[in-house]
Amino acid sequence: MNTFQDLGLNNDLLQAITDLGFTKPSEVQQKAIPLLIESEGDLVALAQTGTGKTAAFGFPMLQKIDVNSRTTQGLILSPTRELCLQITNEMKLYGKYCNGLNVVAVYGGSSITDQAREVKRGAQIIVATPGRMKDMISRRLVDISKIEYAVLDEADEMLNMGFKEDITDILSHTPTDKSTWLFSATMPKEVASIAKNFMHQPQEITVGNKNESTSNVSHEYYLVNARDRYQALKRLADANPDIFSVVFCRTKRDTQKVAEQLIEDGYNAGALHGDLSQNQRDLVMNAFRKNQIQMLVATDVAARGIDVDDVTHVINYQLPDEIETYTHRSGRTGRAGKTGVSMVIVSKSEVRKIKSIERIIKKDFVKKDIPNGMEICEVQLMSLANKIHNTEINHEIDKYLTNINEMFEDTTKDELIKKFFSVEFTRFFNYYQKAKNLNVSESTGDRESQRDYKGGKNDSTRYFINVGNKDGFDWMKLKDFLKDQLDLGRDDVFKVETKDSFSFFNTENELREKVLAHFTDFKHDGRFVNVEVSENRGGGRRNDQKRGDRNGFKGRRSGSDSRPRRSNSDFNSKSSDSRKSSRRSESNSGNSNFAQSRPRRSRR
Ligand code: ADP
Ligand code: MG
Repeated sequence: MNTFQDLGLNNDLLQAITDLGFTKPSEVQQKAIPLLIESEGDLVALAQTGTGKTAAFGFPMLQKIDVNSRTTQGLILSPTRELCLQITNEMKLYGKYCNGLNVVAVYGGSSITDQAREVKRGAQIIVATPGRMKDMISRRLVDISKIEYAVLDEADEMLNMGFKEDITDILSHTPTDKSTWLFSATMPKEVASIAKNFMHQPQEITVGNKNESTSNVSHEYYLVNARDRYQALKRLADANPDIFSVVFCRTKRDTQKVAEQLIEDGYNAGALHGDLSQNQRDLVMNAFRKNQIQMLVATDVAARGIDVDDVTHVINYQLPDEIETYTHRSGRTGRAGKTGVSMVIVSKSEVRKIKSIERIIKKDFVKKDIPNGMEICEVQLMSLANKIHNTEINHEIDKYLTNINEMFEDTTKDELIKKFFSVEFTRFFNYYQKAKNLNVSESTGDRESQRDYKGGKNDSTRYFINVGNKDGFDWMKLKDFLKDQLDLGRDDVFKVETKDSFSFFNTENELREKVLAHFTDFKHDGRFVNVEVSENRGGGRRNDQKRGDRNGFKGRRSGSDSRPRRSNSDFNSKSSDSRKSSRRSESNSGNSNFAQSRPRRSRR
């Protein structure tokens, strides 16, 4: 069953399909169309957005209704006005050779009398949003007492938007012996309860990966400057020493570039994208399956078939163009009953997409900070301690022990441990001690966040001002407003952070008098605007900075770790030839002794 002809559609519809240029039915269409044409029962179909659900219910409905009758026979409920119009359009296209067909859209925000008039002219099919539909029923502008087919499209979304009561109400005006077809991307409890209460032994079809809405994946995002993306990726990897991950990039080029860079920086990484030969792709996938590659950098298309069960992390190096794709990505982890983490590295310009993704996956993201250098050093050190603790002794070493013992004759156990761990720790420490804070605050601009890293000195004043988002200020508008009011330059007002009804900002200390004087008895748009010196010295990041200083960080400015290279410490030069030591030898030998347990030994 690979063509539309095979699905049992009539010639009018097949002709329209040819005109539309559809050559092959999608999976949900292949499954739903024959079923709906042949039987009169109810159906629950689960399929992601963009899988062609409209045609999956549209064609069977068009084939089954009687265009010679003017009675309303089909009702399609959809969550939004846009979808309602889109479905109406599609239905008209699908039914362009069905003479006498009348499909009418019914939705809010447009004249109800015009819509009622169109319905009166004889609409066999009504496509409606629940709110407007309910309204029209209560005003007796529509009659759905004789419908034979009811479609609940994007059912999860409709329930999510609070339409449950409206839907219940609408369905109560329809005959009980109609067929109900429910389409949804996911099957939360509410959808299941609709299916249970309003449908009779529905057939069920599922398209795609059932794992996709699993609850054992947690979602995190990290806000950084776009230029720090790669540094952020490395830190996420370093903060998770046992990571086994798929890293998603948007383009083949970026995929290749990021993989190459990771390999050069000493990570066990590989690239997977469409420009590789089948043979190359097989090699990479095999290495990944055997855990020889810890970071598989992939495009969406190339990663589609990845069915590796123990992926610990999915990292969205860039968000996909189509946010729906995110579901496919995060579904690569948390499989086979395991837990997984899906991380997104975002820049400020894309951070609003996180909200849209939350709506699609129906789960909340946790905003997290990219770990700072000391945190990573600690994680790495503890991970090493753990590995050493669990290592089985290799007695091949015994024959060298006399010499080694001689060398350490005067070293205490305590010292020995410290020296031993310093080997690893110093390498991470040397790299990370210059590391800057990569996190960007959501409410302030790029420039502000950079300013904060100049140093921890308290040479600026933080102010409270009693206007905020409610008054129409975002940080940029407030900054402009303050600059204009105080007649200051571009950089004189910084760390502007707007809240709902108040805000904060900074200036250098010298400007304090001027600022406070200006805003004494100051009125804007008829209300008093009050500015005070704030106790809050500058938000969380300044505190981070202090913590960094205490740990030996100097709060260097950006760029200091943009080109990580190992320093020439004794240890580094000696160990450089073990650079190629990798998970490969570790997994082959089946034990993790010290030298092998460090997967990444090359320049960082
Ligand atoms: P969904 O409702 O599952 O999100 P749609 O029904 O809106 O998906 O279809 C998505 C897009 O795919 C539409 O532009 C539609 O015209 C197109 N489409 C649907 N079925 C096919 C097909 N068999 N071949 C090619 N394109 C199709
Ligand atoms: Mg749809």
